[in-house]
Amino acid sequence: MHAEVIAVGTEMLLGEITDTNSQVISEGLAQLGIDVYYHSLVGDNEQRMTETITLAASRSDLVVISGGLGPTPDDLTKQVVAKYLHRQLVVDQEALAQITTFFAERHREMTPNNRIQAMYIEGAQSLPNYVGMAVGNYYQNPNGADFLLLPGPPQEMQTMFEQVAKPLLAKNYAGQQVLTSRLLRFYGIGEANLVTKLADLIDQQVNPTIAPYAKDNEVTLRLTASGSDEMTDQKLLDELETKIRARVGEYLYGYGEKNSLPAVVVQELTERGLTVSAAESLTGGGFQTAVTAIPGASNVFPGGFVTYAAEQKEAMLKIDEEVVEQYGVVSEQTAIAMAEHTRQIVGTDYAVSFTGAAGPDFLEGHPAGTVWLGLAGRDIQTQAKLYHFSYDRQHVRNSAIMAGFGLLQE
Ligand code: ATP
Ligand code: MG
Repeated sequence: MHAEVIAVGTEMLLGEITDTNSQVISEGLAQLGIDVYYHSLVGDNEQRMTETITLAASRSDLVVISGGLGPTPDDLTKQVVAKYLHRQLVVDQEALAQITTFFAERHREMTPNNRIQAMYIEGAQSLPNYVGMAVGNYYQNPNGADFLLLPGPPQEMQTMFEQVAKPLLAKNYAGQQVLTSRLLRFYGIGEANLVTKLADLIDQQVNPTIAPYAKDNEVTLRLTASGSDEMTDQKLLDELETKIRARVGEYLYGYGEKNSLPAVVVQELTERGLTVSAAESLTGGGFQTAVTAIPGASNVFPGGFVTYAAEQKEAMLKIDEEVVEQYGVVSEQTAIAMAEHTRQIVGTDYAVSFTGAAGPDFLEGHPAGTVWLGLAGRDIQTQAKLYHFSYDRQHVRNSAIMAGFGLLQE
């Protein structure tokens, strides 16, 4: 069983927008244990669409297409697939009634074209669109590849795919097999290093499988077990996680899609009833933006400083002129003074400070990416840590922000 994903739309060939639908679809199919062998992208052109779906249907069991279900003349997907299958388009009366009501309620005139949005391929299942108007299609083909047609607008596509299509696909293709996956999130270790430390586990993987993925400043491992029931799967995942923890447990900070490092830090501080403030130079408030982006941040974060210029480090944080003059802004001493003073002024349990060279130029003789972070705490000796981040200015700043959360996580 394997699938192929096609995105339809000339605007993607022109480079105006990126095909994000296929990524979402592939991810969902992977979760169902359906292998995807090909992705293609084709414009709104009848002949080339026919070629593309003919090829896809000749080599795949399921062809998933997004885009081109709308009312305009360039929306051809249903028509082209229907022709390929030698089938008519028929009207979904329920969907048509909804579209008619929609226009009537808004006192807008419905054009004959809008009728097309309620049409589906004869013999297919018409899939409701909870966000927009065009119905989707799921055609189970006894003589060849099955087709799943989804609308182009990402919100419509995702809602239909998640709520309507995936349960159908799970029933028809995943059979009795249960897939259980767990996402482990790591900070402070690079992908290459992580993979090296787990090389033998990755080489031996059969069930569960291990899929590493590197994002900006963090690495995730998706462990997926497939068996007859979830309990057994969870046990397999537990066993594998124990082995992984034994080697790289110190870098593991959380689980799941939503638990980013900032979210985990805010949650842990909340649970322990602790507060944090910050003084930021090169990150310009980015750390505080990231903290306050997390719901519930007010429990842990009362406020902080953005002290970009050296004079403001002195004026706002009351740091001795001599410290900055003697050691420079990119220094352990300045980072420590910034953290200590901030903690005292704001009165928090912890304070983090950020000072360094974001680039592209050298600062005080330090190359771009040279960054000191300070951490002051009620019961700890104030410390500062030196980092050498790379790439461009934005990446240096983002890395520094994440490192701030990394310090608090320790
Ligand atoms: P509509 O009823 O809006 O015309 P449609 O099903 O006909 O929907 P398209 O006309 O192909 O879909 O695309 C509508 C819009 O959805 C595009 O302009 C684009 O912004 C977005 N879109 C379409 N396909 C994709 C895709 N693969 N990835 C991301 N966005 C997409
Ligand atoms: Mg369209």
